[in-house]
Amino acid sequence: MNKVVTLGDKSFQLYISETQILTAVRAVAEQINKDYLGKRPLIIPILNGSFMFASDLMKELKVDCDISFIKAASYAGTSSTGNITNLIGLNEDLAGRHVIIIEDIIDTGHTLAKILPAFAEKNPASLKVATLLFKPKALKTQIPIDYVGMEIPNEFIVGYGLDYDGLGRNLRDIYQVI
Ligand code: 5GP
Ligand code: MG
Repeated sequence: MNKVVTLGDKSFQLYISETQILTAVRAVAEQINKDYLGKRPLIIPILNGSFMFASDLMKELKVDCDISFIKAASYAGTSSTGNITNLIGLNEDLAGRHVIIIEDIIDTGHTLAKILPAFAEKNPASLKVATLLFKPKALKTQIPIDYVGMEIPNEFIVGYGLDYDGLGRNLRDIYQVI
């Protein structure tokens, strides 16, 4: 099975199947179900990339929980710029809440490093980070990462919510640049 897709000027090959993704999502959900029993966490996905992960994760959560989305964008093309262009929608009262930030992927960690203080200063009872994908070799910052679906090498990927210049978010599987 060597599926190839072309998005704009680049080609990508199948890398992580939908089945493998959903297994990783379930494993993260199981840990959250265990850790937040009786706590009613507030799930905060960071748009755009995390919308599919957030949706599938929510379906697997058995604990009572709330969800509220915020938007942050820092990516141009295939390399992280580290510049946050947007942080919209952090209007929720986080005081005393058990907050879980949901990321699609942690690459350099710059996005999270920049936005975490904005959460922390709202005095949540606890603040944790769940990411579907993590590139340990790309990490350039010291950030807490509490739940990881899968560790991947430092290669650019698309699909399952993640884009290449706007394209590929609709793909069910994850593809790696060729
Ligand atoms: P970081 O700030 O950790 O470098 O990157 C954060 C954001 O960059 C992620 O939330 C994601 O939107 C984007 N990103 C990082 N690596 C990739 C990748 O391999 N593919 C895509 N499509 N986006 C990525
Ligand atoms: Mg993201």
